[in-house]
Amino acid sequence: MRSEVRILSGANFFMILEIFCSGPAFTNSVLLGCTRSKKAAIIDAPLGSGDILIERVEAFGLDLEMLLLTHSHWDHFADMSYLKKKMRAPLYVHELDAPNLKKPGADHLPLLVPIQAVEPTGFLTDGQIIMLGELRIEVIHTPGHSPGSVCFYLPEKHTLISGDTLFQGSMGNVNFPTSNPDKMWESLALLSKLPASTRVIPGHGDETTIGAESWISNAKEYFGE
Ligand SMILES: [Zn+2]
Ligand SMILES: [Zn+2]
Repeated sequence: MRSEVRILSGANFFMILEIFCSGPAFTNSVLLGCTRSKKAAIIDAPLGSGDILIERVEAFGLDLEMLLLTHSHWDHFADMSYLKKKMRAPLYVHELDAPNLKKPGADHLPLLVPIQAVEPTGFLTDGQIIMLGELRIEVIHTPGHSPGSVCFYLPEKHTLISGDTLFQGSMGNVNFPTSNPDKMWESLALLSKLPASTRVIPGHGDETTIGAESWISNAKEYFGE
């Protein structure tokens, strides 16, 4: 598990950001908190992450305002049902990825472990602005890896939580039954327009920056058939 606390001056003022890696697919979960308003959000909840996330929310004295999903692959929402019940927090996902939450396995990915279904409270849309106290989070719809994949962008914090759309040196699988490679190239080209210094926290593996991933403006050349 990697845990990181960022309560810095300047650009990161008022932000708590912790990253946890857990589950059979080594999936990252992100705890975002606003130190001023004490409001918090959890982005993705892989298997085994629920209790540690609750512990961290309580340790910081935060109020969990919402649960967010970058997409609905089982390794990202395995502990969401538990968190939603225990913390009585609303859960949001892009509508195109909702079916797999209600019926795990609907996306035809094999479930390596039994996964609890969970009902989303509402849907995320492209361009939506989520205010978490002082933190402004922009939803960017980035289909390709899955139809309802989204990234969460905090422009003032120069931070992008990219789910399985963009990894360090790579990207999410586009050969899954609900994937669409052409949409992935478009989504990555869109992300390439973000400032080069943007810090990228992916759904798996280590973080990177937009500038370090210069291939994304031309992803088809690198990863297309
Ligand atoms: Zn995925
Ligand atoms: Zn994943």
